[in-house]
Amino acid sequence: MPQTTLTDRFGRTVNYVRLSVTDRCDFRCVYCMAEEMTFLPRQQVLTLEEIARVARTFVSLGTEKIRLTGGEPLVRKDILELVKEIGSYGLRDFAMTTNGSQLPTMAESLRRAGLNRLNISLDSLDPDKFHRITRTGRLSQVLDGIEAAKDAGFQGIKLNTVVMKGGNDQEVPELVEFAREKKVDITFIEEMPLGEISDHDRGLVLCTSDEVRGIIGQRHELTPTPEDSGGPARYYRMADSDIRVGFISPHSHNFCATCNRVRMTVEGRLLLCLGNEHSVDLRHVLRAHPESDAPLREAIISAMDLKPERHHFSTDGDVQILRFMNMTGG
Ligand code: SAM
Repeated sequence: MPQTTLTDRFGRTVNYVRLSVTDRCDFRCVYCMAEEMTFLPRQQVLTLEEIARVARTFVSLGTEKIRLTGGEPLVRKDILELVKEIGSYGLRDFAMTTNGSQLPTMAESLRRAGLNRLNISLDSLDPDKFHRITRTGRLSQVLDGIEAAKDAGFQGIKLNTVVMKGGNDQEVPELVEFAREKKVDITFIEEMPLGEISDHDRGLVLCTSDEVRGIIGQRHELTPTPEDSGGPARYYRMADSDIRVGFISPHSHNFCATCNRVRMTVEGRLLLCLGNEHSVDLRHVLRAHPESDAPLREAIISAMDLKPERHHFSTDGDVQILRFMNMTGG
């Protein structure tokens, strides 16, 4: 019988794939990219058909959850075609991470194309600070995007905030109030050492999840809940609101033991771990075998043996992972 689940050497089942559909972005967030970026030439980038082949093959191997990401997925030309295709696979969960800038015009079509959930990045509610962090972004556009996503009826909308000490940590209470008012979940993320940036020293601005929880705790009692959305976040609830507050803590509470994910870059590099370089070149397999998915299947199955037990992020300024998050697929 053909294999229908993916399991690694440590007994972890891999049923969640994040597919990056572009390395390009209309924002230049200070923790994610350098100010001047060189993007990939077109021939190195997978076509939408190639990305769909990979998605289909993962689904045949037991994948239940796919997230499209980037770069900014909504700046990829014809992205709706890919969303429609993957939306037809009947996944338990089909999500996208976006900066929200294109949602005012695209939210409804995305929902109709079969996307269930959206993670929208939002690091500040102050227009100037938002512009400073994103370097090019306009807050009003993203706020309109959040409204458009709500109007389109997405089943789950979650805000993602990377917290930086002295950057936006003071805004944590306001961001929680905003999420409560909009009735959307919010997750606070510890900044990860991916790519060499010049804006700040990552070690100095690291704001741990415990610190963020402390800030929120001054206004709201947070009760841990075992709920999980199939990703790395740990969730908490407040007695007087339906929303969840999540924490992604790659530094302080390593989430590797329950890791169920792999990522593919838009070049077709299958990354077995966010914090390690172990990878397999799926683009080569895709292009060497345009007529048959069997070699792709085999390549994915054997790649699981390369999935490392855990990542080791340090805060001492060492750049361990050279690729930026926009290359990795956040
Ligand atoms: N452009 C989309 C967006 O802004 O959400 C999707 C890609 S972005 C790389 C995905 C997520 O990764 C965003 O929530 C972003 O804040 C987060 N991110 C980027 N660089 C990061 C880093 N070095 N550490 C932690 N999170 C990071």
